[in-house]
Formats: sequence, C-alpha cells, structure tokens
Amino acid sequence: MEAESNLLILLQNPHLPAGLKQIAEKVLNGERITFDEGVLLYEEGELGYLGVLANYIREKRHGNKTYFNRNFHIEPTNLCVYDCKFCSYSRLLKQKSEGWEYTMDEMMDIVKKYDHEPVTEVHIVGGVLPQYDVAFYSELFSKIKAHRPELHVKALTPVEYHYIFKKAKIDYATGMKLMLDAGLESIPGGGAEIFHPEIREQIAKDKCTGDQWLAIHEEWHKLGARSNATMLYGHIEKYWHRVDHMERLRELQDRTGGFQTFIPLKFRNQDNQMSHVPESTVVEDLRNYAIARIYLDNFDHIKAYWAMISRTTAQLSLNFGVDDIDGTLDDTTKIYSMAGAEEQHPGMSTKQLVELIKNVGREPIERDTLYNVVTDYTNFEFPQEAKPQFYRLPVIN
Ligand code: SF4
Repeated sequence: MEAESNLLILLQNPHLPAGLKQIAEKVLNGERITFDEGVLLYEEGELGYLGVLANYIREKRHGNKTYFNRNFHIEPTNLCVYDCKFCSYSRLLKQKSEGWEYTMDEMMDIVKKYDHEPVTEVHIVGGVLPQYDVAFYSELFSKIKAHRPELHVKALTPVEYHYIFKKAKIDYATGMKLMLDAGLESIPGGGAEIFHPEIREQIAKDKCTGDQWLAIHEEWHKLGARSNATMLYGHIEKYWHRVDHMERLRELQDRTGGFQTFIPLKFRNQDNQMSHVPESTVVEDLRNYAIARIYLDNFDHIKAYWAMISRTTAQLSLNFGVDDIDGTLDDTTKIYSMAGAEEQHPGMSTKQLVELIKNVGREPIERDTLYNVVTDYTNFEFPQEAKPQFYRLPVIN
C-alpha cells in the first residue's frame, strides 16, 4: 500500500522532530494520540507530514472509496431568535423583508417537488423561531414519513432541540424519544461551533452550551440512533480550543459510538458580525482535515462540503483524511452562499460529482444517510448524452 510506504519513508527521516516522530509511530501502530500531541500537530505539523499520516488512516479505513449522497434541503426560516456573531442568517443583520418563514404546507410542497427524484435524504435545518415547536416538528416529520416512507429524515440540531424542549418543559430524553416516534431518523452535526465556553460565549452566547449539545446527542445515541458532529474553525479560537472540541467528541463517542461523521466547517466572513476576522487559508483547511482524521480515531468518516470550500479544495482534501464530500446539491440551501461560500449557486449532477472524484484517482460511492451503498460508480458508465445534430448549410456559389 502506497500510503503505508509513504509513512515508513517519513519515519526514516532523521530530521523529523522527536514529538512528531512519536505521533507518526502511534499512527502506524493504530494507537490513540493525546491532547498535547493534538496541539503539537497544529503547532508544528507541516502540510506534507500531516497528509502522509491522515492519508494512511483514510486508506486503511476506506481504501480509495469516497462517499457522497443525494439529498435536498429544507430551511424552514432564515430568521432566528439568536444572534450568533458568525451567522449570516441572523435577524439583526437581515431585513425581515429578506426573510422567509415556511408554513407546513410550503415545506411539504418542497418534499413533493422531489417525488420523482432519486434522493435518499431530506436535510432540515434553519433558524430558530417560536412557531416551530415540538408539535410543529413532530407533525412535519410524520407527514414526510407518511408521504414518502423511504426518505430518510435528518433534521435539526441541539440548538433547535434545546429551545423547543425547554419551551415544552420536557427533558432531553423525553423530547428525543418524541422526535424518534414522529419519524426523525438522524441528527446532522450543526450547532457545535466551538464547545469551549471561552469562545462559545463570544460567538454564540445564548444558544445551547457545548455540554447541552453533547447531552442531546448522547440521549439520541441512547435510543440507538446516529448523528454527525461539526466544528466551526478558523476564527477567534486557538488551536487548543479545537483539540478540546475534538476531545469532548472523542470521549462521547467512546461511550456511545453513535457518531458517524465529523465535519470541519470553515468560518466564512461574509455579511456577518465577524467580517473583520480573516478567513483561514486552504493550507490551514487541509491541515485541519488531516488533524481531525488523526485525532478522531473512533469516528468512521471525515466529511468536506465541496460547496463550501470549492471543488478543487474538496478534491485535495481527499488526500488529507476526507472520505466524504457530501451530496449532489441543487440550489435548495442558502446557508453556504449567504456565508460567502465558494459556490454561490451550488449544484452538481451525479455525473459531475463522480468525475470530480475519479479525476483524483478515488472511487465514487453513492451512499444513503447511514453509509449503506446505493451505487458504486467505480466502473459505472453513464449513458452517452445525445450529441447536437448538425445540418449541412446550402452553399451559394
Ligand atoms: S447560527 Fe443558528 S442559532 Fe445562531 S443565529 Fe444563526 S441560525 Fe440562529
């Protein structure tokens, strides 16, 4: 395996500092790295070094397989009772006239629009408003499942759950069971930001705390269900805050095993209250993916959103620990574009996404939400597209 020989070559480098050599040996032996070693990777790990380690882990787990899914998004509203400083959705910045608040029927119309599309998942997440409460979301989930039972409902984050359960005066365990019974099947990873209060209180003061975020996922995992986790990085946090964030996730995962995927989210500075904070570089993004892959030894998957970081960076990330580049989106999500993502109108056909993955020597696998294989596109031939017809024009002599 080429990834293994690269790691062995790296270990023979006499100039490799002792601390980094020890981490590389741990990776080779499948051993867990410590908190301090995580910080050391951020402080001293060069891009090439981190890539060798992360790619070794990635290929050992998944070979060349690279996952994506076909989903669509419903964003119930872009207005919000909270005021997170990094958020390009916040009601303080957006004129109410620019806002939307979908009704139940409007959301069901979005679901029905995809009736004849081969999508496997609906991803529901947006702002927090009082009318979207336990009763509303329970009804929405059961209506979606009644309409299209095989469509996987992945919805809301602990930010919404904490808010609606508090309003309904029910505890997390009762609330999550209600959601499960209504048709919720998994929880996306959002709302995690940075768990440490030193940072969270500056950027996302009023919404659920890091501990509450983790507690809601824990209750959900206890029901035997799965979820994802994110980390918003590259703003005012220090490296050790990132390691602290991943440490808390790793510790919960040791206890429940309920997380599927870790998704680092790059902070974007467009149209929000942190526009003065510079964004991370592509090199820093790739280093961060790699360190996440090395640190989170009990997470199966590391995901990059191609629409957020650009198609080229997504291709590069596949050599830095990433094995999932999200889905074939059409223009149903505004979250990325409003935050200043690379893709202002994110849309990619399955064929384009498959080619993007194949062009960097990886194997495209369409998955469902729970990583069951829907279609292996490794040797798949797409039908030839009809060529335009040309007609001979009359020639005037
Ligand atoms: S990040 Fe979420 S909770 Fe915070 S203001 Fe934006 S939509 Fe609301």
